[in-house]
Amino acid sequence: MIEKYHKKKKGKKHKASILHRRDGTCFLCAMHGDYRYHKVLHEHHIFGGANRPLSEAEGLKVYLCIPHHVDGPEAVHNNAGNMLILRQIGQREYEKTHTREAFIEKFGKNYL
Ligand SMILES: [Zn+2]
Ligand SMILES: [Zn+2]
Repeated sequence: MIEKYHKKKKGKKHKASILHRRDGTCFLCAMHGDYRYHKVLHEHHIFGGANRPLSEAEGLKVYLCIPHHVDGPEAVHNNAGNMLILRQIGQREYEKTHTREAFIEKFGKNYL
């Protein structure tokens, strides 16, 4: 039988987070001194939407517990302040190895 489908491996790179080790802690809980282990963590891309692939490629993502990700008043997707905090941390990290101009050119905005 002829092999009809030969699945090509996509050259998609999954870079580890440059901000947060995947160790069961929530990035925002830990920021408040709570290093509890969470059974369920969501991967959150700091720069979402159209910039999500860039976030992935640069490792600008963190792991969040559900109340800090999507469910509740402190969740980054409900809370513009917390969202901004993460973006500022992400930009600062990026600027350790790149210029501000490079950041703005890539992500379209200055968060600092
Ligand atoms: Zn949390
Ligand atoms: Zn998210």
